[in-house]
Amino acid sequence: MNVSLTEEQEFLRRTVRDFAEAELRPHVMEWDQAQAFPRELIARLAALGLMGIQFPDEYGGAAMSAVDYCICIEELARVDPSVCLSVAAHNGLGAAHIFMFGTEPQKQQYLVPLATGQKLAAWALTESTSGSDAAAMRTTATRVGEDWVLNGTKQFITHGRGGDVMVVMAVTSKAKGSRGISAFIVERGTSGLRAGKKEDKLGMRASETSEVVFEDCRVSAAQMLGIEGQGFVNALQVLDAGRIGIAALAVGLAQGAYEAARHYAFERKQFGQPIGAFQSIRAKLVDAWTRLEGARLLTYRAAAMKDEGRRTTLEAAMAKLHSSETAVRVAEDGVQIHGGYGFVKDYPAEKYFRDVKLTTIGEGTSEIQRLVIARQLLTTL
Ligand SMILES: Cc1cc2nc3c(=O)[nH]c(=O)nc-3n(C[C@H](O)[C@H](O)[C@H](O)COP(=O)(O)OP(=O)(O)OC[C@H]3O[C@@H](n4cnc5c(N)ncnc54)[C@H](O)[C@@H]3O)c2cc1C
Repeated sequence: MNVSLTEEQEFLRRTVRDFAEAELRPHVMEWDQAQAFPRELIARLAALGLMGIQFPDEYGGAAMSAVDYCICIEELARVDPSVCLSVAAHNGLGAAHIFMFGTEPQKQQYLVPLATGQKLAAWALTESTSGSDAAAMRTTATRVGEDWVLNGTKQFITHGRGGDVMVVMAVTSKAKGSRGISAFIVERGTSGLRAGKKEDKLGMRASETSEVVFEDCRVSAAQMLGIEGQGFVNALQVLDAGRIGIAALAVGLAQGAYEAARHYAFERKQFGQPIGAFQSIRAKLVDAWTRLEGARLLTYRAAAMKDEGRRTTLEAAMAKLHSSETAVRVAEDGVQIHGGYGFVKDYPAEKYFRDVKLTTIGEGTSEIQRLVIARQLLTTL
């Protein structure tokens, strides 16, 4: 077993880190306050291959591995978790669903502009009454001649307002339950599609989250994504991979929060010495680093298994659960180490603490990860 990254991967890490330090760090709080995803960043992200990280060359992607993907996501999250959430949702949900289940013409038409950063993806599963129980969705798609007509409202959709290409899950046969849900590709500007309320969030504020409303929104049969009735099953497969991305985001966020706390612990003096000399502060930093390294290994293992083409339902859920819970703890201790300065916006600890909570909620809560893990682990009791 080799637990070291390759030279190319170390180079990739440095490249994305330099980019994040130069292009994100100076604007983090400005974007947080504006609560808007900086669209002007997309072309620069695309120039580094970050809008199509894992997709093959022929679709305009950077053809990186799942482990490489984790490195990119970590490095963005280390500096700005909310910009990173947008990049992860674009790559790991909307674009990934089209890559995994789209036809060749759909990939050419929709994936290429997404992977090259000409367009931004969204992925709409959640509704106000169906979050964890996503299969209980109410949005319908009804066949009318050669077309499908969508009606319903999606909730908490990343890029619900700014997304150009949206993958939408809708009920095509109520009688068939979760096997009666299909996926559709809907483009911004389609008649009957409009953005609803934009959420005013605790954290991840530079990543736009909105309601999306479908009112007799008509799409052609060619816009069905995957096989009719397989939309929910496919969505779960997309989430298996997406969760590795959120685990990497949590690892990167925890890395940023840890580094900020470590720096502060050496700088801040009380009782005539740096607070980093006090045993209880050192213990917090040691525990943070130890847990963080464990989370990183779980995440890389899930990614390496994905690269080997193996099923990762268990490993992705474990990585997501452990990394997000670890990141919450690290970000909280980061605030504690900063004392009162952790509670104000002059230091980055406050923003990591606000942003981190999403990682235990998005793409399946911690409770749902435990259900997924239990289903894999405890079937023979
Ligand atoms: C910033 C942000 C971005 C998002 N982006 C997207 C997106 O792009 N696309 C999309 O489709 N969705 C998106 N979501 C939605 C997200 O995936 C859901 O919020 C999440 O799945 C939880 O659903 P819920 O909010 O309805 O909570 P609920 O499902 O109502 O859960 C409430 C509580 O009950 C617990 N719970 C529920 N069921 C069980 C159970 N069986 N056992 C134990 N506990 C349980 C949960 O763990 C949680 O603690 C986003 C959410 C946020 C906040």
